[in-house]
Amino acid sequence: MITSNNGFFDKFGGKYVAEIIRRPLDDLEAAFNKYIHDPEFLEELRIIQRDYIGRETPLYFAPTATELLGGAQIYIKLEGLANTGAHKINNAIGQCLLAKKMGKTRIIAETGAGQHGLATAAACAKLGLECVVYMGEVDVRRQQPNVATMEMYGAKVVPVTSGSRTLKDAVNEAMRDWATNFQNTHYVLGSALGPAPFPDIVRTFQSIIGEEVKRQAAERNIDIAAVVACVGGGSNSIGVFTPFIEDKNVRLIGAEAGGIGPNVGENAARMTGNASREGIVQGYKSRFLIDEDGQSMPTRSISAGLDYMGIGPQLAALGESGRVEFTAVLDKEALEAVKFFARNEGILFALESAHAGAAAIPVFRPEKWKEFLKAELKRLENNEDIHDAEIMNK
Ligand SMILES: *Cc1c(COP(=O)(O)O)cnc(C)c1O
Repeated sequence: MITSNNGFFDKFGGKYVAEIIRRPLDDLEAAFNKYIHDPEFLEELRIIQRDYIGRETPLYFAPTATELLGGAQIYIKLEGLANTGAHKINNAIGQCLLAKKMGKTRIIAETGAGQHGLATAAACAKLGLECVVYMGEVDVRRQQPNVATMEMYGAKVVPVTSGSRTLKDAVNEAMRDWATNFQNTHYVLGSALGPAPFPDIVRTFQSIIGEEVKRQAAERNIDIAAVVACVGGGSNSIGVFTPFIEDKNVRLIGAEAGGIGPNVGENAARMTGNASREGIVQGYKSRFLIDEDGQSMPTRSISAGLDYMGIGPQLAALGESGRVEFTAVLDKEALEAVKFFARNEGILFALESAHAGAAAIPVFRPEKWKEFLKAELKRLENNEDIHDAEIMNK
């Protein structure tokens, strides 16, 4: 299951939208299917990926982590070295270039923590497109530095004051804008979710991560046993998993936000939590943290990028079929992973990526990681390291 079947991944996905949004979605699908096979488009994209994003990103061998923990050799794909600091730019550039080919002059995007808005603002500046970013008013206040950076790139940041004034309200507002302005406007959705064709489009532009990993591993004779990625909406994970889906010798592991525990309101665990269910939200069918009436329930995570109630439909399907294994990583485990890799490898993970780090270590030697965690948590009880959590979440 690498591409959708008419927008569906098994029973998940689809295009459950108001009539008015169908037209732009259909236009987008047609354009995407055309340009993704157009050699000129692909060459233009390749050059931007190389010279602007800075691809390929390194596949870093983590020698100290490997030695300390025993078991498998640990490699880290350094997507944080991509221009603007995360993988989001892969999708933002791809969609903005596509929009430009479609003759659009205006780009809109939603953003929560600000990372996707920032990447889209940069992509628009690079490609000469007008950019409007919808952001919940609460997030605008929480993420001032990202707002300032988006504005530096020339984007207009619009605070959304409806609902809970966070990410899902920003999505609704962007959809509303798109419905009225699609003649000249493209909506750059930020993760591998939403109504078809977005999950297929976002996966395609993010698959460069996995393609590079596969090539880099082959060049260095690395035999990949498992690929671990953190899962918010699911764009970096589906991007790195895709070239390995058919290769059944490679375990694929998704790390979701376990927050502070397994109960309602304590996490953002759509696949492993006992507070999630199937539903149709914001145009697609998947697993969500919603109640029986389909109303969203509170989520919680130390990491803003994983703190989301939905998961991309393809990952939900791959999870239910068993091809992708999911695990929930607690806030405190992610924090320990940040410290572990910072001290031992000189690599400072984002809190999101740290969930993957924490999930990767125990895959082959769980007892080693447990030992390490136990010792660290004991230290934590006794000193002020606890404040690290607060500092890092700012
Ligand atoms: C946004 C973000 C995520 C979560 O988004 P996905 O679509 O699940 O990839 C994870 N890691 C980082 C560093 C991010 O910026």
